[in-house]
Amino acid sequence: MLKPLTDKQTKPNIKPSIYSLELHELESWLTDIREPKFRGKQIFEWLYKKRVSSFEEMTNLPLGLREKLEKDYYIKPLKEVIRQESSDGTIKFLFELQDGYSIETVLMRHEYGNSICVTTQVGCRLGCTFCASTLGGLKRNLLAGEIVAQVLQVQRALDETDERVSSIVVMGIGEPFDNYDGLMSFLKIVNHDLGLNIGARHITISTSGVVPYIYKFADEGMQINFAISLHAANTETRSRLMPVNRMYPLNELMDAIRYYIKKTGRRVTFEYGLFGKVNDSVESANELADLISDIKCHVNLIPVNYVPERDYVRTPKAQIFKFLETLTSRGINATIRREQGHDIDAACGQLRAKERKEETR
Ligand code: SAH
Repeated sequence: MLKPLTDKQTKPNIKPSIYSLELHELESWLTDIREPKFRGKQIFEWLYKKRVSSFEEMTNLPLGLREKLEKDYYIKPLKEVIRQESSDGTIKFLFELQDGYSIETVLMRHEYGNSICVTTQVGCRLGCTFCASTLGGLKRNLLAGEIVAQVLQVQRALDETDERVSSIVVMGIGEPFDNYDGLMSFLKIVNHDLGLNIGARHITISTSGVVPYIYKFADEGMQINFAISLHAANTETRSRLMPVNRMYPLNELMDAIRYYIKKTGRRVTFEYGLFGKVNDSVESANELADLISDIKCHVNLIPVNYVPERDYVRTPKAQIFKFLETLTSRGINATIRREQGHDIDAACGQLRAKERKEETR
């Protein structure tokens, strides 16, 4: 069973990040210290348009204000520890945080633009039995600003070639809904036109199915794309793959998803990892089609990424196509996820698990 997060996990003892502040929060901090509100927009411009990495560079602010910012907020870029480049253009970054923990961020290149996969937590407590991100459990939530900083850091790398981060997937290490407040601030900052100005429709979040937050998220009324890691269409298999299903079983999850669709009018994406001999038979495909036949959705089939610490095997190609055909013949909209960065440990948590053994044991 999931226990509430501890204070240590939700309120790390580190300097607050300037990138955690939404514009109205920055403005109220300014008001509190008796500075004019318009400085907020100026600071946002330095942070997100000019992308400076120190308060010192904010030359149109009075020195006193720059000193106050310096005293209260952390602005330094994430420290790049490793940069792995794949032959297909995918780049995986291992970044180090203020307190020495490490996280992963991935840049993927598509015909339609550059997309970035961000991390929301240092580790994860959900214990999915196929996933490298949960090895070693949850250390702590990221500050909203530490999620924003990942996008900024990759954007800085793209600035060199005059390119832009055009879409974001929140599918890195961690369960985004376990860091709900951080996630919401992050979304608002990257979406804000004075922030990184990335359109809601170009942002996707993925959850393992933390039911209460699906309702909460539905009520936010955001136009963000929403994905659910389903991985099994019967509750026994799902519990075996994803212990979170014991707390929020499949039927409750499906109810929450129906609520989300009704409330937002949007379709959802189901991620379905194909794990050899576990959930990849034609029978499983039919079971999946039965489960979601009345749901406005798209299914993303993910061939399992081999994780050395986990012993799932890959589904043979022919079987993957059979699975896909079964779904399609039942009228379900489905595709096989294109794999990128295969040669660089680009699946969630793999690089961190390899490079930071002490954090992930
Ligand atoms: N915690 C969230 C966000 C992570 S998204 C969630 O569960 O949705 C990362 C996606 O990759 C999830 O669908 C996850 O289940 C999947 N995944 C993790 N390890 C994998 C592996 N070894 N092979 C294939 N997919 C994997």
